[in-house]
Amino acid sequence: MTTAEQKLPGEPNIRVRIQRGVGQVTLTSPTKVQVYALDAPASKQLLSTPLTLRLSAGQWLTGSPQPLSRNSIVVIDPLGPAPLGVDKHRYPGAIRLVPQTRDQKNIDPAHDRFDVINHVRLEAYLPGVLDRELYDHWQPSAYLAQAIAARSYAISRIIDFGPGRHFDVENNQTSQAYVGLASTAICNRSVADTMGLVLTWNNQVIPAYYSSTCGGVGSSDEDAFGTASSIAPLRPARTHSYCANSRYFDWGPFRQKRSVLARRIAAWGQSRGYSIANLDGIVYIRISKTNHLGRPVEFEITDRQAKSYRLGGENFRYACNYSSSDRKIDPPDNRLYSSFVDVKIDNDDVVFANGHGFGHGVGLCQFGSEGMARAGFSPMQILAEYYPGASVDRAY
Ligand SMILES: [Zn+2]
Repeated sequence: MTTAEQKLPGEPNIRVRIQRGVGQVTLTSPTKVQVYALDAPASKQLLSTPLTLRLSAGQWLTGSPQPLSRNSIVVIDPLGPAPLGVDKHRYPGAIRLVPQTRDQKNIDPAHDRFDVINHVRLEAYLPGVLDRELYDHWQPSAYLAQAIAARSYAISRIIDFGPGRHFDVENNQTSQAYVGLASTAICNRSVADTMGLVLTWNNQVIPAYYSSTCGGVGSSDEDAFGTASSIAPLRPARTHSYCANSRYFDWGPFRQKRSVLARRIAAWGQSRGYSIANLDGIVYIRISKTNHLGRPVEFEITDRQAKSYRLGGENFRYACNYSSSDRKIDPPDNRLYSSFVDVKIDNDDVVFANGHGFGHGVGLCQFGSEGMARAGFSPMQILAEYYPGASVDRAY
């Protein structure tokens, strides 16, 4: 939970991991670029593009005779206003290359690999989020509501994760999707028109989660992620059908072989270090808890040893969708779009029926927001629906 004072000293920068554990990267620009090692900023050099950088036994190779210090973080700044190109995308702000080392947790320990991080002003980052998160033809009100939610989410991640690691957010659905420079005017306009506006509760910026389609009933962050949070606006207040136009509003039934699903769930447990790694077949499977509005939020699986395991909503979905070539677990024929689904045994199969929604269902429902916008609701009304009790305030 975000604990910093809500008023920020000004617009923050955000650090977005745009590539993870790569062996080389190529940058482009209409001009030369400035390159230096973060621990030796006086060593700035101007290099031509396209510029390919790679690590070899800890030494940066840039094609330039002037070496950069071993295993240093490398900064690449554009010289003028034109954005830097990294592979197929263009990015506002600067790029940093951060070598991975053997002692970084949860990171591929291979040597000579590095993360590519985009350091960018928050307001320059947000249009590239809207570009990936919403459809071009969606309503201005849906864009404005999404801009405020995405800004709030980003600020909460900067405050919560910033100090402990070399990036604040990923560029994918682990955090929020991000394309770099936005390609449509509505993305830039929606961010400019809401500049600095965030969702707050108890004078704190809230992590304003959102997902594609809630299916009519949302979830709290506690129920979806198992986090011990007490942020009231992240608890759904009521059911609705604003997202009924989403193709994921109703789905299923899907089947998986009981034995295959059991191996899949056990392998998922193994990958996370959870006790369900010991799951021995599936004898019984049921929804063990629903929230006050009727959405399933916990599932219980009983195995041949008569052992029962309970999984929260999102963990259940991840486990049922898990695949791994290393563990020889093929992807399921049909992935569960959400954990808002009935589950039962039918002979050798587990049947998932009456599925609703796509994603975790916490906070704003994107298809619901678009449905509300089409029905004439304002961005503030949309945010009040999906973050009940939250205020919209200016953070800077
Ligand atoms: Zn919805």
